[in-house]
Amino acid sequence: SLLITDECINCDVCEPECPNDAIYQGDEIYEIHPHLCTQCVGHYDEPQCQQVCPVDCILIDEEKPETQAELQDKYEKLQEAK
Ligand code: SF4
Ligand code: SF4
Repeated sequence: SLLITDECINCDVCEPECPNDAIYQGDEIYEIHPHLCTQCVGHYDEPQCQQVCPVDCILIDEEKPETQAELQDKYEKLQEAK
């Protein structure tokens, strides 16, 4: 999944762009639910939140890397849960 760093300026541009409703307003900054973020796999070629963030503070969570197959699997499980 992706994560939002503390560079976030709380502009709220990213939240409506997420196809998985993974982004929410946290206590200090916007945050991403890791179990909902597929890095946009299944929906778009590029992470939509990264495309719109004006300060480029949305990054890949390097500590929990996921393969394309794992992201696709997460996408399919989320679809089944709908
Ligand atoms: Fe949502 Fe896609 Fe951003 Fe993940 S990468 S938070 S799925 S918009
Ligand atoms: Fe924060 Fe970037 Fe989202 Fe704006 S678009 S709320 S700066 S993460």
